[in-house]
Amino acid sequence: LGKRITSAVSNLTHSNVVDEKALDAMLKEICAALVEADVNIKLVANLRKSIRHTVNFKELGAGVNKKRLIQKAVFDELVKLVDPHNEPFKPKKGRSNVIMFVGLQGAGKTTSCTKLARYYQARGFKACLVCADTFRAGAFDQLKQNATKAKIPYYGTYTEVDPVKVARDGVEKFKKERFDIIIVDTSGRHQQERELFAEMVQIQAAVKPDQTIMVLDSSIGQAAEAQSKAFKESADFGAIIITKTDGHAAGGGAISAVAATRTPIVFIGTGEHLLDLERFQPQAFISKLLGMGDMAGLVEHVQSLKLDQKDTMKHIQEGIFTVRDLRDQLGNIMKMGPLSKMAGMIPGLSQMMGDVGDEEGGQKLKRMIYIMDSMTDKELDSDGKIFISQPTRMTRIAHGSGTSVREVEDVLTQHRMMAQMAKKMGKGMANLQKGGAMA
Ligand code: GDP
Ligand code: MG
Repeated sequence: LGKRITSAVSNLTHSNVVDEKALDAMLKEICAALVEADVNIKLVANLRKSIRHTVNFKELGAGVNKKRLIQKAVFDELVKLVDPHNEPFKPKKGRSNVIMFVGLQGAGKTTSCTKLARYYQARGFKACLVCADTFRAGAFDQLKQNATKAKIPYYGTYTEVDPVKVARDGVEKFKKERFDIIIVDTSGRHQQERELFAEMVQIQAAVKPDQTIMVLDSSIGQAAEAQSKAFKESADFGAIIITKTDGHAAGGGAISAVAATRTPIVFIGTGEHLLDLERFQPQAFISKLLGMGDMAGLVEHVQSLKLDQKDTMKHIQEGIFTVRDLRDQLGNIMKMGPLSKMAGMIPGLSQMMGDVGDEEGGQKLKRMIYIMDSMTDKELDSDGKIFISQPTRMTRIAHGSGTSVREVEDVLTQHRMMAQMAKKMGKGMANLQKGGAMA
C-alpha cells in the first residue's frame, strides 16, 4: 500500500504541471491502493471527496505550492481516518484498574496481555494477569509461561471450567492485594459466535472492567469492519490493539475498524517478543504508510530506552540535525536491535541498506559509525556543508576509518536526508505550538 500511494504522490510531485487532471489521476491511484489494502470502499469514496474539496484549484492563488498542499491533504485525511479523537482510558495508580481483553482466537490476546502488563509494570504500576480462557487446553500454560518470563503475577486454574467464575475470583483476589492493573485474558472462541459474545458479556458483568480492549489481527482484511462492529455491539470496547503489524498486512483493516467503531487504537503489536508493543500514533502510522519514515516513532522508542538523545530531541525541535546527531542515533540503534525493524523507522535508511539481513546490516551500520568516529568535533557538530566545500575531508575520513570515500558520501547523504526531515519537523512543531497543523 505504502509503495503504491507513495508512487502516486511522487508521480504527481515530479510532474511539472499540477492541474486538476493530474490531481484526479493521483486520487484515483491512491483510492485504488486503499481499496486494495482492504479499506472500506465507502470510506475511500469519502476521502476522495474530502480531498477534492480541500484542494480547490479555482480558488488557489498563483503563489500557493499546490504539490505541498495535496500531499498535506492526503496525509491529513488519512490521519483523520485512524484518529477518532476519542480519549482512551488512562489507568491511575493507587486503585485497581481492570482491563479486559476480547477478540477472536489467534488474534494475539494472550501475547498482547502480557506485553501490556509489562508495559505498565515498567512504568511503576503493580500489574498482574488473570487467565479466563478455560475453553482451550493449554491456554493457562501459555499465559503462565509468558507471565513468568516477564515476572508478572498471574491467576488461573486447570480445574474450573466456568470462565466467569475464574475471572471474578482472579480479579477479586488481586483487588484485595491492591494491584493497580489487573488484566483479564479471555478465550475468543466458542462453537458458536453467539455463545462467545454471551460469555464476554457475562465476564464483563462479573469483573466490571474499567476498560475493554479489542485485539485485532492486522491481516484480517475486509472482515475487520464487520468483526469489530459485531464485537462493539455486544462487548462495547473502548480501545483497540492491532497485532502483527510486523507482518505483510497492508493495514487497511486497522483503518476500517477505527472508522466503523469510532474507537481509538491504543497500541500496536510489532512482533512476538514481550517488548514488541508500541503506542499507536496516528501521524507516525500514516507517515510510515506513505513511506515518509517514522521519525517521531523512532524518537519515542529511543526515549523509552533512556538512551542518549537529549540533544537530538532538542535539535529536532529546533529543526536542526547535526552529523553528531546521526552518530548518536545510529549508536542507539545498534543497542536496540533487530536492525531490520529499526531501519524502517528512519526515512531512506532501509532503501540505502538494501535487502540485507540483520547481520550484514549491522556490519554496515558499524562502518557508518567508524566513519563518524573518524571525524573531528567541528565536522560532527556541523550541518554537513563543510564536506562539500572541502571534499578532501572525505578522503581523510575514509583513510582513517578504513572505509571508502563512497561510503563516507553515503553517510553524508543519509545525514542530509535526516536533516531535511528534522527541518520539516521543526517547522511542524513550531506550527503546532501556534495552533496550526503539520507543516
Ligand atoms: P490469542 O488466541 O488471541 O490469545 O492469540 P495469541 O496471543 O496466542 O497469539 C497467536 C499467535 O500470534 C502467537 O503465535 C503469537 O506469538 C502471535 N503474535 C501475537 N502478536 C503478534 C505480533 O504483534 N507480531 C507477530 N509477528 N506475532 C504475534
Ligand atoms: Mg489466548
